[in-house]
Amino acid sequence: MTDPAPERVPKHFIEVAIDSDLAAGRFAHVATRFPPEPNGYLHIGHAKSIFLNFGLAEKYDGTCNLRFDDTNPAKEETEYVESIMEDVRWLGCQWDNLHYASDYFGQLYEWAEQLIRAGKAYVCDLSGEQTREYRGTLTQPGRNSPHRDRSPEENLELFRGMRAGKYPDGSRTLRAKIDMASPNLNLRDPVLYRILRATHHRTGDEWCIYPMYDWAHGQSDSLERITFSICTLEFENHRPLYDWFCTNLEIHHPRQIEFARLNVTYMVMSKRKLLQLVKDRQVQGWDDPRMPTISGLRRRGYTPESIRNFCADVGVAKFNSTIDIVRLENAVREHLNRIASRHMAVLDPLRLTITNWPKNADGSDRVEMTQAVNNPESPEAGVREVPISGSLLIEQDDFREQAPGKFFRLKPGGAVRLRAGYIIDCHDVVKDADGKVIEVRCTYDPATKSGEDSSGRKVKGTIHWVSAPHATPVEVRNYERLFSVENPESCDDGKTFLDHLNPDSLRVTTAWVEPSLCDVQVGQAVQFERLGYYVADRDGRPGNPVFNRIVPLRDTWGKIAAKEP
Ligand code: ATP
Ligand code: MG
Repeated sequence: MTDPAPERVPKHFIEVAIDSDLAAGRFAHVATRFPPEPNGYLHIGHAKSIFLNFGLAEKYDGTCNLRFDDTNPAKEETEYVESIMEDVRWLGCQWDNLHYASDYFGQLYEWAEQLIRAGKAYVCDLSGEQTREYRGTLTQPGRNSPHRDRSPEENLELFRGMRAGKYPDGSRTLRAKIDMASPNLNLRDPVLYRILRATHHRTGDEWCIYPMYDWAHGQSDSLERITFSICTLEFENHRPLYDWFCTNLEIHHPRQIEFARLNVTYMVMSKRKLLQLVKDRQVQGWDDPRMPTISGLRRRGYTPESIRNFCADVGVAKFNSTIDIVRLENAVREHLNRIASRHMAVLDPLRLTITNWPKNADGSDRVEMTQAVNNPESPEAGVREVPISGSLLIEQDDFREQAPGKFFRLKPGGAVRLRAGYIIDCHDVVKDADGKVIEVRCTYDPATKSGEDSSGRKVKGTIHWVSAPHATPVEVRNYERLFSVENPESCDDGKTFLDHLNPDSLRVTTAWVEPSLCDVQVGQAVQFERLGYYVADRDGRPGNPVFNRIVPLRDTWGKIAAKEP
């Protein structure tokens, strides 16, 4: 074993537990796994578990497996298996071994017979409803099943009959014989096997009995010689059951450590609910950019680094809490600020004419190329050329006819700098019949070209623009949060999460963009200057991109404007 890397942050409680087990010689190395059930796409909560499990393996020079806990053929599909592998890889994690709980069906069956022979499991004929009724409640002990005292021989014969398909679905179960009076409901003779004729995505129709999740999960960890079984808090009271199985089967015994699930405001995180959104067509699919799935976040323009940084920032805790979505949005802003190239795009255009702009002999505008910095945070990103002419488009918001004092954008008699261009002075407006300003008229000052300015003139505002004859209209999908309340999963107003869908979570508009934006590759994130971060969606075509809004920039303009009279 090598020493863990030097620390920069204090150790969390799982690392402290690992250190003490390694020091005590309980385990010789760290072996973890990420064990999803392939019944849906991964979401950001899973990312937390992935980074934790793979991160510990890396830190302690151990191993991390990817294992599919595929014990429920009714809900599992190969599509989910494939998407999960793609998402784990995309997050930058590489598993040491790939396993499926279904590979252990034979071994699990053997172990079930072993328990039966030892008098520790029995075949029960109670219906599902009766089983629940007999189980009792948190305040009342359960009652023994009338079939609890069958002999091992009879149980073995019945169980083999279940396996051979002699009995109808749901008519019998195999149950562990533990303690119907245990204060822990998981120990009240839990079901190990049910009869279910369903085609499994890997084992086909080979089995008509399937292990319950609890019967498969812990032993799968044991078979893989996992040393630290890290899982979320709701499994804390399953731990005594997993311990009981390992002890009674006399097999390798991992240490289970529980941590808090990740919850994020304005998001739902249960696969069942996410599936419902997909099936009901409330979203366009599992990778809809509004979904909290890894594939949705990827299509939205999130980077693996930003998700990793977010998970690191949230940390590992023992108590459940809900994280403000703003922290996720800030994580992607922070990363994209460093890596995304800047471009100019106008979302809500207002025509601006430069009345003293030079003309060619044929009366057309002269076209000049200006140099724009691609990313002020990263000098190596270089510069690009942007065409400018006397006919521009600017944002409606950047002009006010009646402007309050602190409005440093364009107003009649005022001046601003065009980003990567010149200082312009507004002298005039053109209005339509309703009195609405439809064109702003300015002069430019040739001595003020960005990068070559010799005028010494200073203005307070800088605005973005595009040259009208060079601008391309492109589709922009402005996404908002999918839900309009902070906690859509637990509202005590008698409504379901579906009642809290935000009706304005997608607004499609047209943006007018500078030429360089037409060459952006699918999946590439860029900054529309002064507006936000956008990513080219796969629905676009070469030369004709479609952009998804990832996040707006921090909205300081909006806040100042809101305070103005
Ligand atoms: P759901 O309840 O949404 O179906 P799940 O917990 O059943 O999710 P699994 O496929 O069983 O999903 O999860 C695989 C692993 O990811 C488990 O170890 C689980 O504890 C972990 N995990 C799932 N959701 C979260 C979450 N929100 N935060 C942290 N870890 C999670
Ligand atoms: Mg689960």
